Amino acid sequence: MSATFTEPRPSGALLLLGEGSDLRSERGVECTGALPPASDPDLVERARVARAALGDRAFVLGHHYQRDEVIALADVTGDSFKLAREAAARPDAEYVIFCGVHFMAESADILTHDGQAVVLPDLQAGCSMADMADIAQVEEAWEVLADAGVADRTVPVTYMNSTAAIKAFTGRHGGTVCTSSNARVALQWAFDRTGGVDGDGKVLFMPDQHLGRNTAVLQLGMGLEDCVVYDPRRPAGGLTERELRDARMILWRGHCSVHGRFSAENVAQVRERVPGIHVLVHPECKHEVVAAADQVGSTEHIIRALDAAEPGSAWAIGTELNLVRRLAASHPELAVHYLDSTVCFCSTMNRIDLPHLVWAMEELAAGRVVNRITVDADDAHWARVALDQMLALPAPAPTTAG
Ligand code: SF4
Repeated sequence: MSATFTEPRPSGALLLLGEGSDLRSERGVECTGALPPASDPDLVERARVARAALGDRAFVLGHHYQRDEVIALADVTGDSFKLAREAAARPDAEYVIFCGVHFMAESADILTHDGQAVVLPDLQAGCSMADMADIAQVEEAWEVLADAGVADRTVPVTYMNSTAAIKAFTGRHGGTVCTSSNARVALQWAFDRTGGVDGDGKVLFMPDQHLGRNTAVLQLGMGLEDCVVYDPRRPAGGLTERELRDARMILWRGHCSVHGRFSAENVAQVRERVPGIHVLVHPECKHEVVAAADQVGSTEHIIRALDAAEPGSAWAIGTELNLVRRLAASHPELAVHYLDSTVCFCSTMNRIDLPHLVWAMEELAAGRVVNRITVDADDAHWARVALDQMLALPAPAPTTAG
């Protein structure tokens, strides 16, 4: 049975896999629920047949945090930065099937032309971090900055993990999008627009406070005292005008529910358990975790670091578990440990599974476009301005800290 919520959902309610619609959520639209069962023994063969029927008309993108059975069907894998470039580089593909989460598919729609359809196999695959900033809150925050007399010295920098509406806000206000791969380059660019890192300009960084803080402090040499946290649930963000005037980094109060789980205690425990281990974490982790680690970097950086690691060395990785498991399997010459002591998948990434992917591919092969992600024309224009600014930034260098 499917459910439809046009009013806000009951607190905490999550729609059943593949069923119903939630018109008020960031994901927004419907999924029919007519999926093959996960226990179908023919599912892999059905996937192979549907993929072959689509041929070059489809291009399948797979984010690193996807399940193995989905990654097996991807034409290319990558983090959100790499996948944004890949989507933009395939103008001949009629369908871009995005095995990732909603904001990534929105970005792909913005970067592809009108004749291409971007398809998200399960529309409930959202991102809890992206949900932590909505456009009305961001518009209100900008008014708070204007009232404090600092908006004209502030450049918005928006992490890829945000809605298209917030990327559009960023484009309208002369800012840029960034990813975990290029956050340092993006922040440097933003500060250069307002007198440099040592000037008196500011960055409004949304929605991940940890990536913003870690990049400013560990890569641009700022102090923790240069950062303030804007809480959209409190009047004026919970900040005084004086605090806003003194700050260099105004960090949105948002975080990743996966990377936010890792703790400095996890780092201490793994060091005690495995002497000499290298601790490598994602910059969405809390500052105390990143500061205690040996290295910090995007998922692409983590992959490259393990590819280059000395055989026999031991690594504790602080990122999503699907990726860490695949890295452990593909590097039998290394001892790869997971940093947390409990399971830490991204639950929304995991909503893309083989039944949803098979269903989407079979529908497309039959000429029915399902789960198409579209961004309205005005938001698409301004979000594209911010995304093009990101794509024009110099290529990021590998990052190391701790
Ligand atoms: S891992 Fe975190 S930031 Fe990435 S999609 Fe999941 S909740 Fe969002």
